[in-house]
Amino acid sequence: MPVETIRIDTLVIGAGQAGVAMSEHLSRQGVPHLVVERNRIAEAWRTARWDSLVANGPAWHDRFPGLEFEGLDPDAFASKDQVADYFEAYANKFKAPIRTGVDVRRVERNTGRPGFTVDTSEGLIEAINVVVATGPFQRPVIPPIAPDMATVRQIHSAQYRNPAHLADGAVLVVGAGSSGVQIADELQRAGKQVYLSVGAHDRPPRAYRNRDFCWWLGVLGEWDAEAVKPGKEHVTIAVSGARGGHTVDFRRLAHEGITLVGLTRSFNGSVVSFESNLAENIARGDENYLALLDAADAYIERNGLDLPPEPEARRLLPDPECLTQPILELDLAEAGVSSIIWATGYSVDYSWLKVDALNASGKPRHQRGVSSEPGLYFVGLPWLSRRGSAFIWGVWHDARHITEHIVKQRTYLDYRDASQRVAQSPAPGSTQPSKTSLMGVR
Ligand SMILES: Cc1cc2nc3c(=O)[nH]c(=O)nc-3n(C[C@H](O)[C@H](O)[C@H](O)COP(=O)(O)OP(=O)(O)OC[C@H]3O[C@@H](n4cnc5c(N)ncnc54)[C@H](O)[C@@H]3O)c2cc1C
Repeated sequence: MPVETIRIDTLVIGAGQAGVAMSEHLSRQGVPHLVVERNRIAEAWRTARWDSLVANGPAWHDRFPGLEFEGLDPDAFASKDQVADYFEAYANKFKAPIRTGVDVRRVERNTGRPGFTVDTSEGLIEAINVVVATGPFQRPVIPPIAPDMATVRQIHSAQYRNPAHLADGAVLVVGAGSSGVQIADELQRAGKQVYLSVGAHDRPPRAYRNRDFCWWLGVLGEWDAEAVKPGKEHVTIAVSGARGGHTVDFRRLAHEGITLVGLTRSFNGSVVSFESNLAENIARGDENYLALLDAADAYIERNGLDLPPEPEARRLLPDPECLTQPILELDLAEAGVSSIIWATGYSVDYSWLKVDALNASGKPRHQRGVSSEPGLYFVGLPWLSRRGSAFIWGVWHDARHITEHIVKQRTYLDYRDASQRVAQSPAPGSTQPSKTSLMGVR
């Protein structure tokens, strides 16, 4: 049966944290809108993460301003399901007009009239504005060096769930950002022999002088940094809220049994080669760690804060053998490696977006989320406006900025000259949903 076309002022695509934040701000500003989501609210937190994942930041920090985590100590780390429940509760709190189970297949700019035509699994939607909140981590990326080996099972970190999910045998984890390092740690604790391939990384202390690193990055202005520091473009951040939260310390991981190796370079048959840059990567990570301690000490001193000194935080463990005599080649068959986990990040997929807002490599052209295609917005992407943009506490502020832009544009579109005022005609960018149904909007 053909479904009636919906007309709405603003359509938000995706109901993860970014979509929920958009809906809150649009609701506050009285902008008629609809959020469509192909799965469920905060689906990524429910089903696209491993079982034991907890938030990287404490509950007081990794949340939106309007709601605290119920029944959770503010310094504790919410489990992935608690984060998903939180966003669902948040959306319910202000009755966000979210329609789940709607897959957006195509967005096209209208010609000769304002707005966009959006083709969805449930029919067409006409919207003056479209906000793309489909997430920063859509497509798991496995680099082309991945070997074609029948004897080794290869998965991306997005597919990893728990140690029991892997075959018996050793594991090579490629990538030591927050995902790789936490997965490697969990596998080693479950009794597996683990090789962890470590590239360039930052590793802030989990906490220093009674303050979590999230607090330090906040007061030191780091979350608000507007551009990646030169040379840090490919540097990942290794932090963990697991087991109550702890500093990621690669030497400790090695002393506990994980074999550290450098960046994974290539495969030849069953032999994998690693770059000889392990010591350098670890040293740079130490520099980053110690620089944060220095900045924190200076901040405490400058502001006369009464926070207890923590000199032991500066003591580094002795170098493990895998660091002083790094393995440059490993025969996976001989080492009994039965699994490789590629913790190598994600990319985005905007192939369904038929608009003039993507550059040659398919990345959005935008300024703080306001794209080069009038009426089209992006929210939730890394460094959209600042370092915090892809994180829970950052996306809410970006959503507010984008909403303000939409409201401003609505003011222009609502303008009527004298003759039009006399005629009292309805606004072309009219914000009321049309007479058509709102597809079961709650
Ligand atoms: C392993 C991991 C751990 C993380 N931990 C933290 C953390 O502790 N703290 C923190 O602040 N951040 C964390 N992040 C980063 C970030 O907070 C999450 O990735 C978060 O899920 C991003 O929210 P989002 O709303 O932008 O995107 P998503 O949560 O991915 O939501 C996008 C939604 O859009 C929907 N969608 C996509 N395409 C379409 C379409 N065509 N039609 C309809 N719907 C569509 C999807 O189904 C999805 O529900 C983590 C990320 C990862 C990968």
